[in-house]
Amino acid sequence: MNASIDVASKELWEKAKSFYINNLVSPEERGQVERYMSMITSVTRQDDKFIICTSNSYAADYLKDNYSDRLKKCLELISDNASLELTFTCDTTKGPTFITPEIPKVTQNNKVKPSTFSSTLPLDESYTFENFVEGPSNSWAVAAAQGVVSHPGLDVQNPLFIHGGTGLGKTHLMQAIGNELKRRNPSLSICYLTAETFLNEYVNHVTSGNIAAFRNRYRAIDILMVDDIQFLQKGKQCQEEFFNTFDTLRRAHKQIVMTSDVAPQNIPAVESRLISRFQGGMVQEIESPIYETRLAILRKKCEGLDVTIPKNALEFIADTIKSHVRAMEGALRKVYMYRKIDPLSNLNNEILSHLLKDYIEKEKNFKNISIEEIQATIAKKFSISMAQMLSMERTQSIVTPRQLAMYISRKFTTKSLPEIAKMFDKTHATIIHGVKAIEKRLDVEEDLKSTLSEILDSFGYKMSDKIE
Ligand code: ADP
Ligand code: MG
Repeated sequence: MNASIDVASKELWEKAKSFYINNLVSPEERGQVERYMSMITSVTRQDDKFIICTSNSYAADYLKDNYSDRLKKCLELISDNASLELTFTCDTTKGPTFITPEIPKVTQNNKVKPSTFSSTLPLDESYTFENFVEGPSNSWAVAAAQGVVSHPGLDVQNPLFIHGGTGLGKTHLMQAIGNELKRRNPSLSICYLTAETFLNEYVNHVTSGNIAAFRNRYRAIDILMVDDIQFLQKGKQCQEEFFNTFDTLRRAHKQIVMTSDVAPQNIPAVESRLISRFQGGMVQEIESPIYETRLAILRKKCEGLDVTIPKNALEFIADTIKSHVRAMEGALRKVYMYRKIDPLSNLNNEILSHLLKDYIEKEKNFKNISIEEIQATIAKKFSISMAQMLSMERTQSIVTPRQLAMYISRKFTTKSLPEIAKMFDKTHATIIHGVKAIEKRLDVEEDLKSTLSEILDSFGYKMSDKIE
């Protein structure tokens, strides 16, 4: 049956979307949400299923991971139908979206040429140097980023490779480079994308026999910024293509910037000649910020908010949430919401502890538990050896503990996918598959659920500590 959308369903979708944006999105999030929503190319409906289509798979995944639950709730609320389903997909025949942001206003002394700026993913204009707080954990990376802005393409800093744990500001800093370069020279052709998008586009072009077009596009740009380059390990052929693009651009003194959650030499399954290319310019690490930086970041995030967040609340967050700037932002958003509902509330530490208890609990758990510990505990519980845990054996009695260990590593630690993959001696895809397999089984298998909670219990975790 062909999917189509009738007027009533379309209206329902539009209403749910506006309800979501107007009621469930904080002011700081709004720009981001709207940007991603604008990447939806069509919405169709098949019975109780809404199929949201975007022009690239990154946007589909992002929408699914970040907004699908709440969007579904809005749809259900407005339609009074509790069994609606949302699916996110992408229509590759429409090709990647090229977004042309507004060209800056022309002032008297600043006549700008028309911008040829194009990027597969839109840059977030709030990710600027001005909004990025510098501290000992990131000052080298900031200096390198500023160096790139002053002299794009200079050999000693080409490529610039920024690595560090999740939520520590790599994407922000990279986009700040893009935004600043664009501000200084609107006619520069800048391309920002994730390695995953690069890979998907590559596959699409190979499938459609149009690899020349792909090649030409990437080789004709001035600045190439690839976020989360560790994803390249998924595609061997694509690595070859990236290698050639990289060399062509670098020879032409075009700047390349990359980020990754691990240092170049620790990206598993990426060819050594690529790794040495990644190390050939400047490599900088971003580490977890110290207290003063955390506090300064929170202050920065408060600028422009329509309610005042008391000083003690900011100090409380900076003091309790240490590992993750993104988690700090989440906690701040919660305090903001609370304050918005009740501007005169007395936000003492007791109330803050209660309000932010999920973040505080998670923070406790971020601390130590290692993947080896998870593997060893589960192996023991299921009476299998560590060798079996790490093997390729497909017997169910081995697969279940192995996948459970993958699931706990992924959902209850902040270890990155490449780190987990490495510890299991498997690919990214295998880990993702394992995690999904367990998620599916947990929906229906009560036994597995109670085994999982026993294991979690032995680590001092609760199901609610899960990182989404
Ligand atoms: P990563 O790409 O390393 O996972 P992001 O760049 O997405 O992290 O950062 C996560 C959030 O934290 C973003 O909203 C970003 O603005 C914020 N952030 C991280 N570091 C800083 C900093 N030093 N100053 C201001 N904001 C920061
Ligand atoms: Mg990032």
